[in-house]
Amino acid sequence: MYYFDTAILSTIIYAAQIWALEQGDIIEMAQTHFIRKLLAIYPPRSANYFLRLETGRVHTQYRLLSLAVKFHGKLIKMQEVRLPKIIYEEQIHLNKTGKSYKEDKNWLKLYEKILNHYGVSVEEMNKLHYTRNRTAITGFFKKVETILKNQDLKKAEESNTYRYYKYPFISHNAPSYTYSLWPIYLKRLNAALRNKSEWIMIGKNKIIQLYKYESCPLCNIMEPYSVYHILINCKLLTPYRKKGNFCSTQIYPEDEYVLSFTSLSLPQIKEIHNLLYIHISQIDLTR
Ligand SMILES: [Zn+2]
Repeated sequence: MYYFDTAILSTIIYAAQIWALEQGDIIEMAQTHFIRKLLAIYPPRSANYFLRLETGRVHTQYRLLSLAVKFHGKLIKMQEVRLPKIIYEEQIHLNKTGKSYKEDKNWLKLYEKILNHYGVSVEEMNKLHYTRNRTAITGFFKKVETILKNQDLKKAEESNTYRYYKYPFISHNAPSYTYSLWPIYLKRLNAALRNKSEWIMIGKNKIIQLYKYESCPLCNIMEPYSVYHILINCKLLTPYRKKGNFCSTQIYPEDEYVLSFTSLSLPQIKEIHNLLYIHISQIDLTR
């Protein structure tokens, strides 16, 4: 994500404090698109809020607002003769005297609207800039971050797919695998498992396509074809499951099985990878 922030985002949001105050959702698409490619998880199931929560990212709106607030601070200190300052003063005057048309969207109006959304007025922000109250400004941004994260958490809580974001995990920390030093293919596997993906990439060119079959194409057990079936129940993998290991000890019932992937260790994710690899190789042999 360091690459994204330095090389991609900084280009996209160049001078965005001026032109993009209302385009937060459009700019955010670049970020979610990047994370989706990075983790290699694909629709139908990979909600944008899930991608942000998994990688501990905040909605780009946060960056836009922080740029705008910094710009506001600069405007205040700017010499009276400079053009941005003149326009700024003019907008204040217009908005105060009500002479600007209601539909008119000048920068100051948009800025005010967004600040209001997070519970601060332009005058209050003005004061903070004048008094150089860094602590209060930092506090304000902490609040904005919390609001945006809580919006994502709420969406995750309300979905059926991402059950592990429900209570008691109210203050959410991104899961450790996205920050770990694991090889990228294992991180991607972990992301796909947590996302309940129906399309899972294994190795360089093997793909498990759960949506293709109603039940397992290898054994006769009549139950839905799922990661749960493969790891826990599939008979053809019995010789490969080692006693006491992750895939032989089932902690969660089938409908909660996704919770098993919350904080996997490196040996555990490797074991899962191996079993899935054997499974897909067995399918390839029957073709
Ligand atoms: Zn099976």
